[in-house]
Amino acid sequence: MQVPGMNDFYSVHNADPDKDGLIECALIPFPELVLYPNMVTPLFIGRERSVAALLAAQAHNETVIGVAQRNAAQTEPTIKDLFSIGTEMAMGRPMRMPDGSTSVLVQGRRRVEIVKVIQTVPYIRIKARPLTEPTERSREADALRRAVLTLFDKCVQLNPNLSEESYIYAMNIDEPGWLADLIASTLDLKIDERQNLLEMLDPIERLHRISVLLGRELEVLEIEEQINAQVQQEVNRGQREMYLREQMRAIQNELGEIDIFQQEINDLRERIDQANMPREVQDKAVKELSRLMMMPSMAPEVGIIRTYLDWLLELPWSKMSEDNLDIDNAAKVLDAEHFGLPKAKDRILEHIAVRKLAADKMRSPILCFVGPPGTGKTSLGRSIAKALGREFVRVSLGGVRDEAEIRGHRRTYIGALPGRIIQTLRRAGTVNPVFMLDEIDKLGHDFRGDPASALLEILDPEQNNAYSDHYLEVPYDLSKVMFITTANTLDPIPPALLDRLEVIEFNGYIEEEKLSIAEKFLIPRQLEEHGLSNKRIVFEEQALRTIIREYTYEAGVRNFEREIANVCRKLARKVASKEKYSRKVTPEVLSEFLGPAQFLQERLEDKDQVGLATGVAYTDGGGDVMVVEVMLLPGKGNITFTGQLGDVMQESAQAAYSYVRSQAKMFDIKPSAFDKNDIHVHLPEGAIPKEGPSAGITLATAMLSAMTGRPVHGKIALTGEITLRGKVLPVGGIKEKMMAAHRAGLRKILLPDRNRKDVVEIPRKILDEMEIRYVSEMSEVLEVMLAPAVTKPKPKSPSRSKRSPNKTKPSTSTARRPGTTPSTKRPVKTPAVRVQAAIATLEGLPSLPENS
Ligand code: ADP
Repeated sequence: MQVPGMNDFYSVHNADPDKDGLIECALIPFPELVLYPNMVTPLFIGRERSVAALLAAQAHNETVIGVAQRNAAQTEPTIKDLFSIGTEMAMGRPMRMPDGSTSVLVQGRRRVEIVKVIQTVPYIRIKARPLTEPTERSREADALRRAVLTLFDKCVQLNPNLSEESYIYAMNIDEPGWLADLIASTLDLKIDERQNLLEMLDPIERLHRISVLLGRELEVLEIEEQINAQVQQEVNRGQREMYLREQMRAIQNELGEIDIFQQEINDLRERIDQANMPREVQDKAVKELSRLMMMPSMAPEVGIIRTYLDWLLELPWSKMSEDNLDIDNAAKVLDAEHFGLPKAKDRILEHIAVRKLAADKMRSPILCFVGPPGTGKTSLGRSIAKALGREFVRVSLGGVRDEAEIRGHRRTYIGALPGRIIQTLRRAGTVNPVFMLDEIDKLGHDFRGDPASALLEILDPEQNNAYSDHYLEVPYDLSKVMFITTANTLDPIPPALLDRLEVIEFNGYIEEEKLSIAEKFLIPRQLEEHGLSNKRIVFEEQALRTIIREYTYEAGVRNFEREIANVCRKLARKVASKEKYSRKVTPEVLSEFLGPAQFLQERLEDKDQVGLATGVAYTDGGGDVMVVEVMLLPGKGNITFTGQLGDVMQESAQAAYSYVRSQAKMFDIKPSAFDKNDIHVHLPEGAIPKEGPSAGITLATAMLSAMTGRPVHGKIALTGEITLRGKVLPVGGIKEKMMAAHRAGLRKILLPDRNRKDVVEIPRKILDEMEIRYVSEMSEVLEVMLAPAVTKPKPKSPSRSKRSPNKTKPSTSTARRPGTTPSTKRPVKTPAVRVQAAIATLEGLPSLPENS
């Protein structure tokens, strides 16, 4: 190494010891340096005292002692601030630097220990004892030396800051202490660690320490190298891919093919530009597109983003159909497709009229069509869309329990999609369709959230201009949509939701209405659909009535239409295979085409039963007849419920029971009868009543009958709620109930007095054919319903046969235990049929006393 001033070192001799073996030298404190013997390093000296020390030594061609400071921040360290062991060093020629400091090369000579301070100004001068280290060579030292050299070699290879030269230098040093000092000076160590090595006099110990430090250094270097290698690998892979892609692109260009992925991105960009989306949505789309562009075309996210962009692009954001507000036209369309339904039609026409006058000021009303299935709710919705010139879409909410079905899943879910509302709007293709939400009464809810709350937002005009779908992530404006909801009953609809709806009732049809609907709409449509329009086929009225009575049992006309379609299909087959067929569809043809009647009128018990009363209930399918059975069994006064009794009805039964107990004396029932018998209340299969208390008087009647052994007139229908004191309270659904009773063939019914007003709505024909008796007290009910007992009830020995009050001759086939139901000749489909059948022999029934 040729360094200027370096040769000057050699003219400087180590200081001579005095008689005590001490040497006297100037001292320079090192803020951040530990100098080892034999090492050469430049010093930059700025402090005045250090410069003075340097100059004095220079003048006398003496060595100087360099000692590290304990605290590098000390600017004027005293002897206490220095370590006690330092290094005697020779200095080269000082050089003035441009910044005013002095630089000088120094060479470490030997370790010294400070013994005492002689002066502190103008520079520090001390007495120190040179330290000698043991020099004998051992095998251990050799082995250690080699091991350290190997480690050092590795470090040099891995650490770019260590030069190859330093290894060569180290290789040529035999002395273990010197080697240790050399390596220590090349390693990146803290001052304390360096000083520690300086203070270690034993060279073997020092070398040991160095081997540990080298091992640690090597470990860090290896980890670093691993990381570097990984990074390099990633970079290489990315570069490789990019390179290949570029090549592919070049090849495709050469072949005249275009990069498909790129083309797709171009397409998407163009579509986004033209989609006419709201600003916010467009921004989102553009953002997603740029994410897409950054991805390699095979990345899994590509598909997800592409699907998402497709959704954004295919949803209608601004496309709107223009409303046709011609009222005459609307009236024509509605009438041309539907029979009756005056209330619903009027409401629609009013809506159109207001729209015409107040244009956009008016909010779309949210209609709720309520009624049994098959009464034309959906098809009227479709006609409304047609009349207005809007698209029509519908979605069924029946059985939806998870809010996510309505609002969609977040995109983080695998296979996530928007909710049903957004999906349906995409189908609609415009922002203002007539949107039918079917079966809102069948919405469920569970731990996954309440779909009804999502519905509230959808139907709320204040909120629905920014409807949030989890998948879409951008708000969607639903305010132009005309929502129509449908339900079979209103009971299960949460009040908050019901509040927003304008309810329009759709009632069941009576037979005459069904006939008209069939003739005007169902038959022509089915003939047309089956290619029979020009075959002059005629359905005889009697055949239609037979279908209504024996092949269907419903408030609406859905099954009726299905059976007509069945007939048409059979006819079409005959026509197609050129078989002979009759143009007239008669009742006789029906059994050939439709098989045996499904609701055959079966002749059942022709007498009244103990413990069996006939109620009418309001159900999902409209009204239905519901037979209540009550039986006494030996027991302890418990009540058992079976069949379809919901909580409300069970409470109703409890109330009825309490009433019966309170009337025991009047009816000659021993108080012990209650304690010694269990009472079993059962609703046989068939009608599934909605939760509602309207069976109160039916239950009380059946119970009293069972307790007294007096048979109930089974052919008189009952409906009404009961109080504990025996008052009869009004109930809902009178019209549907009356129609159900009529449909079942019942011709007499007891109604709560306070329901008189509801009778106005009932079709004339039914009123003409049915006898109504209004009641306000339970006693009146019982007076009409209970026949006198023929024998005393013997609940504990229920094998006694029982006679009808109307027939004198008991027949074995109809003999019953008190309070039991007949076990044979059950109705084919529904209990109503049993009643219907029984009515065939109704002549014997006493006429109801006139009620004021
Ligand atoms: P809902 O939606 O009430 O269950 P739909 O609208 O599906 O009933 O009606 C069932 C079928 O009965 C449809 O084909 C419909 O056209 C027909 N329909 C029901 N009521 C009428 C009516 N008043 N006039 C004409 N067709 C009717």
